[in-house]
Amino acid sequence: MPIYEYRCESCAEKFELLTRFAERDKAQQCPACESTKTRVMVSSFAFAGPSDASASDFAGETGGGGCCGGACGSCGTGPN
Ligand SMILES: [Zn+2]
Repeated sequence: MPIYEYRCESCAEKFELLTRFAERDKAQQCPACESTKTRVMVSSFAFAGPSDASASDFAGETGGGGCCGGACGSCGTGPN
């Protein structure tokens, strides 16, 4: 699950929350004043890319498509 940054409209507190993508736009409770007038702050990774940012996971951070160059079983293209 990604971490989203929220800002409280009531006390201007900023806090981060680990939440689902589907829950991102919901009002989260401010840990400081317990207000629910909070807004998610659009972080750079959320909407930076035009299309490639599929909301799946951060598993493909190494880039290139392969996970380790074919040496592990999950690649499916082992030397054997
Ligand atoms: Zn607050």
